[in-house]
Amino acid sequence: MKKNIKEFYEKLDTLFPQPECELEYKSVYELLVAVILSAQCTDRSVNIVTKELFKDYDTPEKMLTLSQEELESKIHSCGFYHNKAKNILSMSKDLLEKFNGEVPNDIEKMQTLAGVGRKTANVVYSEAFKGNAIAVDTHVLRVSNRLGFVKTDSPLKCELALMKLFDEDKWGKLHLQLVHFGRYICKATKPDCANCPFTSQCTYYAAHNSI
Ligand code: SF4
Repeated sequence: MKKNIKEFYEKLDTLFPQPECELEYKSVYELLVAVILSAQCTDRSVNIVTKELFKDYDTPEKMLTLSQEELESKIHSCGFYHNKAKNILSMSKDLLEKFNGEVPNDIEKMQTLAGVGRKTANVVYSEAFKGNAIAVDTHVLRVSNRLGFVKTDSPLKCELALMKLFDEDKWGKLHLQLVHFGRYICKATKPDCANCPFTSQCTYYAAHNSI
């Protein structure tokens, strides 16, 4: 297995040598807001919305000057705008009350903020604080199943399995590589198997290319 994992890293590094988070942000707070907005929405659409939003509302204090309805209208195109606006306002309030307005450098503490779940906390911890974490989003869950690393619909079970399988110092980069791999090659529908180096270990490929 160790040899396979080493080969897996090498192939991923060839595909995505320096993967970067595609959300645009200038502070940890902005990243946290952007990650909340990114649920069920592309990073591209989030960036269009936050480019305008963060001009005037780039801190929890400023965000809380908006009413729920005002924030909803600004983030409308990201979808699920009612819940996202509610979560952003509650999270901003919590940040001020519990952490003096600073996003804590701690996954558990981050999850005490309203509207911040495990995946969001892992993304922010790994991206903004360069901590070791594997955030499991829809792409990571899908490709981990196809590649045979897990057999589960549960993001938490997937995360724990990946943490066991891969070296801790690789988790942050691996998360980004798997997200990029899922976005651009191993897409949900019509994966680009012809340009994938992992056909030999892929359960999806085996099931869809049997003679
Ligand atoms: S072979 Fe196809 S389905 Fe399997 S991991 Fe590669 S792109 Fe995804």
